[in-house]
Order: sequence, then structure tokens, then C-alpha cells
Amino acid sequence: MSEFRHDPVQKRWVIVAIERARRPMDFKKENNVSPKPTVCPFCDGNEDKTPPEIIALRPSGGAKDSPGWDIRVIPNKFPALAVEGDLGRRGLGIFDMMNGIGAHEVIIETPDHDAHMGDLPDEHLFEICKIYRDRISDLYKDSRLRYALIFKNHGETAGASLAHPHTQLIATPITPRTISAELDSAREHFLAKERCLFCDIMNQELAMQDRIVHADERFVVLEPYASRFPFETWILPRVHSHDYTLSPDNIIRGFAEVLGDTLRRLKVALNDPPFNFVLHTAPNVTVRPGKENYWKTLPYDWHWHLEIIPRLTKVAGFEWGTGFYINPTPPEVAAEYLRSIEE
Ligand SMILES: [Zn+2]
Ligand SMILES: [Zn+2]
Repeated sequence: MSEFRHDPVQKRWVIVAIERARRPMDFKKENNVSPKPTVCPFCDGNEDKTPPEIIALRPSGGAKDSPGWDIRVIPNKFPALAVEGDLGRRGLGIFDMMNGIGAHEVIIETPDHDAHMGDLPDEHLFEICKIYRDRISDLYKDSRLRYALIFKNHGETAGASLAHPHTQLIATPITPRTISAELDSAREHFLAKERCLFCDIMNQELAMQDRIVHADERFVVLEPYASRFPFETWILPRVHSHDYTLSPDNIIRGFAEVLGDTLRRLKVALNDPPFNFVLHTAPNVTVRPGKENYWKTLPYDWHWHLEIIPRLTKVAGFEWGTGFYINPTPPEVAAEYLRSIEE
């Protein structure tokens, strides 16, 4: 099992692997040769190379863990966190820690090893996006888990260790700091103005138009005003909604279409760049002891969205040392270029 260790200086939690720890010499070896699996465990027919599946989409039927699936969800073979066990919150002198409890799943998006997510048919993307909804809902039944993050690493520089198209889901017993910073800003804005921060941003961007990539009746795609990275792109539902898992099928369908469209634009515009995306949905609002009213304003102040970051620049010393990002491409320029890409 791993451990959550709290850093009292940066006020953040770090997941430290204990049992599967890498010995110092392992890193030295890796610099010379990078061992690659010769057989892809995510390909059709290699179901025995993964842990038993959680769920799968098999339109023409078939047994669990058999070939012939369209989408397959499995536990990560090398999970960062373990599902079984107690949180075991405890202090250790001035430090705080808890056991590495959580869930780590992999959504294999297609049996086609060489597919690009953006090139999958809309109907298939719709099924993937419904599975995101179902998996988060299912994990939120576990009151130990406070946040579930859907994320994707595409390309080696973006952290993908396997090329086969897949998304990951990590559910944690702590709301991640990046999310809680956004939640805090949204709540503060709402308490001051009784309006949703994200709706306000979206309305202003729609009025100005210069950072809008695409807008239809259900979704808005934009380059944020203070984009940290070139071509940082957000997708937001046009009608206010705080929780992805509450989205009805027609919204999920609209999301799948606009996600496919955006990924295709980025692929064409930037020649299949490595990228990450993260889905920022609502935290698990199971009532906490002593905090009955804590999430009362969440349905009004939070607005779920997806953030996509093509990995075109490297985060270096200055960013690490200061938290400032230097973005060489203004979001207005990026938006204009993405708008010009033919669908
Ligand atoms: Zn494969
Ligand atoms: Zn809103």
C-alpha cells in the first residue's frame, strides 16, 4: 500500500509508494534502456494480461474478460492507491498521514490499438462518456472517496506509458488541491454576486468572441483568458450544471460530439500533439461529520468542465520555483487558429 503524506510547508498531500517502492538503482538503469512491453495488454485478445474487468461494453454479448468488446474498464494493474482498507488518519509528530486508499481504473476506449480518441465515431465517444458518468457515480457510493478525477494522457511526453487509447480514473479520499482552489474561487464569487463564476466567464467570452473556438446550443469551447499553456482549451456545458454525473443522455451526447470535434481540431492544427485532459466535476458531497452545510451552495456555485492541455512546452525551473507560467501563444491567436480548422 502507498501512503498519503501531508507537506505542512506547501500544504499539499503527496502519494508515496511504500511496498512497490523503486530502489535507487532502478532509476539509473532506466536512463539507459526503457523497457517496453512487447505485447499490448489493452488489445483485443489479451484480456488475460489485465486484472479482471469491472465492466465492459459487448454489443454482441460474450463472457466477462473475453474478446469482442467495444470498451473495457479494468482496475489499473499497478494502482497508485488501493481500494481495500481503512483510511487510518494519523499524526506523526508534526506530520499528518493516511493510508493510500482510493480507486485507480483504466477505461480502454477501443480495441483498436492505433486509434486516436478524436477519430472515434460520435456514437462510440458517447458510450465512453456515459461510462465516465457511470464509473464516477459508482465510486461516489463509497463515502471514503471524496473526489474522482477522469483524466487522459495521450503520447509519451504527456505521460502515457501505453500507446493504446485509454482514459484513467483515480478516486481519492481527499479533494485534490487544484480542485479545491477552483471550488473556493467559485464559492467566493457566488457568495459575493449570487452568480456562477463559470457562467459569468462563458457569457463574457461569448460576448467578446475572440477566445471562442466553438459554441453550439449545448456546449462552449474556449481558450481561457489566462491560459497557462499554448492551446489550453476548456469545454463547458452552456446550461449551468455542477455535476457531470447528473447530466442526462442528450447532454452527454453533446459533450461527446464536442469532445471529438475539439480533439480532431487539436490533432489537425498541431500534428497530433501529446496532450492531457482532466474532467473537473463536483466532489462527492456525502455529508461529513460536523460539516452538514458545507456543500449547500455547490449546485449553484460550481460548473463542471473539461480542461485540455496539449504538451507543447516544458514546465521548467521558473514555473516550478514560482508557480508562474510563461505562455508563448496568446489564447486569442490559438482560438483563431483552431476556429480556422475545417471539420
Ligand atoms: Zn493495444
Ligand atoms: Zn455555471
